[in-house]
Amino acid sequence: MFGNNKNDKKPIIQASGYNGSEPICICPNCRKENPLSEFGCRNMGDGNVRNQSWCKSCR
Ligand SMILES: [Zn+2]
Repeated sequence: MFGNNKNDKKPIIQASGYNGSEPICICPNCRKENPLSEFGCRNMGDGNVRNQSWCKSCR
């Protein structure tokens, strides 16, 4: 079911959990869990969109 649809450009998100409304990621800099909206997304230039690795307050 998952993994082979290359036309489906979804963000690549390394989420560690879910807070009921959005995915949660751990910032590798401050080690805090933040909702994905605190990270934002970044276009990698190759058609992939990833979440930012650091939270807003660390950037
Ligand atoms: Zn952080």
